[in-house]
Formats: sequence, structure tokens, C-alpha cells
Amino acid sequence: MKSYRKELWFNVPTRRAFINITPQVQSCVEESNVKEGLALVNAMHITASVFINDDESGLHHDYEVWLEKLAPHEPLSNYRHNLTGEDNGDAHIKRQVMGREVVVAITAGQLDFGPWEQIFYGEFDGGRRKRVLVKIIGE
Ligand code: ZN
Repeated sequence: MKSYRKELWFNVPTRRAFINITPQVQSCVEESNVKEGLALVNAMHITASVFINDDESGLHHDYEVWLEKLAPHEPLSNYRHNLTGEDNGDAHIKRQVMGREVVVAITAGQLDFGPWEQIFYGEFDGGRRKRVLVKIIGE
């Protein structure tokens, strides 16, 4: 069995963003030389997500509005977590809702997606360097 590991680095200038990382993950699959197997892609930070959905700007706007309704960034005093001196209480909750990781099948050397599926990095507390782990196993 082959095994491959890579960290993808991001430094998102805004507090929140959704970034399509499918091309980077497909490059990892090619580098791994795995033709049949599994790819795990996970955020390595507790204020960021990796999830699969449509690359459609209206949907991403809807996520932003929905997440801000669910866990607004301000007022900061809404969150007991911010008593630690941090300001990212909302980001921890947004990450929990949007998920930590995805697992995608690899078939014939390609990510084996359903219609319109793409992999996204969801940033909820940007402005610093953060990582995504890609782990690939198979033959
Ligand atoms: Zn925090």
C-alpha cells in the first residue's frame, strides 16, 4: 500500500472566505501515484473547515449569511470563549457546523466526485498562516 502526506498552507487576508482547493488536492493525488484508494482532507485548525459542495457564488453568499445569523462575530461579548482574550468564539462554532474533514474515493487516479462536488477550505478566522492536511492511501 502506498501512503502520501502533504500540508497545504493558506494565509487568507480576510476574516472569512471559502476557497476551492480541488485543484491542489487533485495534484496531491497525481503526486501520490495512487490509482485506487482514499484521500482524507482535513483542516488542521479549530477555526477552519474542509467541506464538499458546489462552487457557486450565490451559495457561498448564503453560507456566509446563514453562519453569521447562527453565530455572529459581534458582539464579541456574546461568547464566553472570548473571555480568554481571543475574538474568535464565533469561528469555533462556524467550523463545527461546516465540518473538519472530507474523505474522497480515488478511482483510476482521479477524485471520484458526484455531480458538481468540489472541495473547499472554509476560513472563519483568517489573517494568519493555517494548514490543511492531505493524506492519501491506496495502490
Ligand atoms: Zn479560540
